[in-house]
Amino acid sequence: MGDIIDGKALAERIFTDVKLEVAKLATAPRLVAVAVGDDKASAAYTKRQAKLAQSCGILYRLDNLPSEAPESALRAHLETLNRDPGVSAVILQTPLPRSFDLVRCRDAIALGKDVEGVTTLAAGRLAMQKAVIAPCTAEAALHCLRAAIPDLRGLEVAVVGRSDIVGKPLALLLIHESATVTVCHRQTRDLAEVLRRADAIIAAAGSAGLVRAEMVKAGAVVVDVGTNAVTAPDGSTKLVGDVDFEAVKERARAITPVPGGVGQVTVAMLMRNAVRLARAAAETCT
Ligand code: ADP
Repeated sequence: MGDIIDGKALAERIFTDVKLEVAKLATAPRLVAVAVGDDKASAAYTKRQAKLAQSCGILYRLDNLPSEAPESALRAHLETLNRDPGVSAVILQTPLPRSFDLVRCRDAIALGKDVEGVTTLAAGRLAMQKAVIAPCTAEAALHCLRAAIPDLRGLEVAVVGRSDIVGKPLALLLIHESATVTVCHRQTRDLAEVLRRADAIIAAAGSAGLVRAEMVKAGAVVVDVGTNAVTAPDGSTKLVGDVDFEAVKERARAITPVPGGVGQVTVAMLMRNAVRLARAAAETCT
């Protein structure tokens, strides 16, 4: 049986570093989350953000716009936050109302306050290896992989999923680590064949049970980014990843669980990014 990569322990170490970095800053960073309407998953996430920010010494606020607010009001609010010197980092919660143009809304966040690296400018900086931060989930998945394999040079990595905030930035981060990367998606002809070649698999497709044991090379490292709520026969719901964990853990050298894996590290990366932006802003002022 492979090692279980402990996301909580990895996150704890990041939090310890974040606290030390916060203590070195002249003023505490302020992270502002912006949400529109009320979504249960988003509310649960902002509650967790608030708790963890507080424990790290980061000031935190949730600005919740009413569900009937138009897109223009959201963009105007983001621009107000951009101009506010008391705000160092902004996170735009999803989902947004369906009529909103997500990219246009994200792009209303100033690059220097884009704590999740979701703006077009941040994506371009990441591609050019000039970014201060990268999207938190992508960074978290990379961090989990490096916990098992510190040196990724020449490694064959298969990424399942090409979303703008996970699969795509992750592919860039891996290239920058000199891994050989294959990005799979819905049109990939033979997913199993690609995965079987890989030394490491990062699953970020949002599809429960997609990665099965027979698709995994013996001794590969498997990082599961998926968070899928599935309903059990008794009506209860539970969170599972994209990987058939019980079967794959018997073949893998190391694997992240869901929950308790990448998700734990993602919020830690959010705090680390908030501090990095605050520090970068302080450096440009001096
Ligand atoms: P996330 O936010 O986790 O990245 P998205 O829903 O935005 O998830 O994107 C899902 C990605 O996963 C897409 O790029 C899609 O092509 C890929 N994907 C979904 N299902 C499959 C599948 N069965 N095989 C391969 N790729 C898939």
